[in-house]
Amino acid sequence: MPIYEYYCQDCNTKFELIRDIAKVNDPAKCQKCGSNNTKRLISKFYSQGSSENSSSSGCSSCSGGNCSSCGH
Ligand SMILES: [Zn+2]
Repeated sequence: MPIYEYYCQDCNTKFELIRDIAKVNDPAKCQKCGSNNTKRLISKFYSQGSSENSSSSGCSSCSGGNCSSCGH
């Protein structure tokens, strides 16, 4: 499933969710403060370049922008 990036307007925190594409417009609960006052950002799934593999997405073992291949 694709990774979506959300922004919490209560605690000013960006977080990512892996969720079904059918639920992308559902409210996303902030993982830090639990608020539903969040909005979806443009997915890096579409905008990420291959040179940007040190950003916050993915983990150190997959470094490709998602963890679908490493099980995280
Ligand atoms: Zn929050």
